[in-house]
Amino acid sequence: MDRSLDAPEAEPPGTGTGTATLGRPLFPASVKDRERGAAFPASERSRAFRRKFFPDATAADWNDWRWQFRHRIRDLGTLARFIRLSDDETAAVARHQGPLPVGITPYYASLLSPTDPDQPLRRTHIPVNGEYVRTPGEADDPLGEDHDAAVPGLVHRYPDRVLFLTTGTCSTYCRYCTRSRMVGGGGEYSFSTGQWQRAIDYIAATPAIRDVLISGGDPLTIATDKLEWLLSRLRAIPHVEFLRIGSKVPVVLPQRITRDLVRMLRRYHPLWMSIHFTHPDELTPEVAESTARLADAGIPLGGQTVLLKGINDDLAVMRPLMHGMLKFRVKPYYLFQCDPITGSAHFRTSVEKGLEIIAGLRGHTSGYAVPHFVVDAPGGGGKVPLLPDYLVGRDGEDLLLRNFEGGVYRYPDPGGTLGASRAGATAREGV
Ligand code: SF4
Repeated sequence: MDRSLDAPEAEPPGTGTGTATLGRPLFPASVKDRERGAAFPASERSRAFRRKFFPDATAADWNDWRWQFRHRIRDLGTLARFIRLSDDETAAVARHQGPLPVGITPYYASLLSPTDPDQPLRRTHIPVNGEYVRTPGEADDPLGEDHDAAVPGLVHRYPDRVLFLTTGTCSTYCRYCTRSRMVGGGGEYSFSTGQWQRAIDYIAATPAIRDVLISGGDPLTIATDKLEWLLSRLRAIPHVEFLRIGSKVPVVLPQRITRDLVRMLRRYHPLWMSIHFTHPDELTPEVAESTARLADAGIPLGGQTVLLKGINDDLAVMRPLMHGMLKFRVKPYYLFQCDPITGSAHFRTSVEKGLEIIAGLRGHTSGYAVPHFVVDAPGGGGKVPLLPDYLVGRDGEDLLLRNFEGGVYRYPDPGGTLGASRAGATAREGV
């Protein structure tokens, strides 16, 4: 099997290059969207980047998501035009084979440091040799998603909801991706209209399913008409109450959030969206526009962030990220402990670090800015929430609780037993 960096990606079904094609170009542009392209905001930084590296591209080209997608940076030679690569990065990109290729939109590349290999965003998208080091406890599918697949591409782990893996394509490839085994092509996974149909049939035949999370890969890389086809089929199933889309596109390819797209999405309410943010450097005018368009379409937006060593595992980074997401109308929802995928040791930090960050947020800032910190239990155990320990113990009828400043307070809890086993701790606290 050819697993080279240049192996073609598995494209979403019916968008032109996959096995089940409708015979149309990959991303048919509507005239309206082309006309509006020039109206999308562009920061001075991204304008300067376009002028320097894409002097022939117009503002309308740059703001056309199809142009961005076509011009993604996908090989060593192109990458080296934009960035002075370290020896580690050069070697890692050169030896890469198989899924999770390099893929960076020109817009997102404009946010990367051309000189500093330790810049957080750069570390999340340019491989280093640490990717090829397998450490104990790591696995290609650490969450056991393949084991829990009811039919190919549909993970049914929790009783009332399913994860619908619609495509292996993303606009950019995050080096710590939980689904690195299946994104970007070159692997054993494929996606097709027939697979979608089998998943839809399974959902229709399973009345317990009330919630469908549409994910991938990134479902917002799918052509709008194909995505609408899927949403309309799911919405037609009477017991499906709730649709969610999980995506990083609003952050790495914000131009994709066209008026046409949001007009289509709003037809399928209740529709929610989980957006993947990593670092405050992603909070740009372009992303403010993409999230505003989604929020204005009545789509509740939740944020998902992976805790990453040396990238965002610091309160001084995480707090502005959480605040910025709120300003962008995105409620921070999950902070994930990084999954132990193969070659992720250089990204993983201790669970204590995550708890420390939550303790630094809770009570110190708006409750809306505090995500749930979860560990996705390896082997298919599902999400396990973790909280700093606010329960001190019990003193007779009173529960003893620690507040965000470390003060211990009593709550009358007659007849309760919670905290009784921590009597020793109570005495030590001197309450
Ligand atoms: S966008 Fe999501 S699915 Fe795609 S590489 Fe990044 S984390 Fe993985």
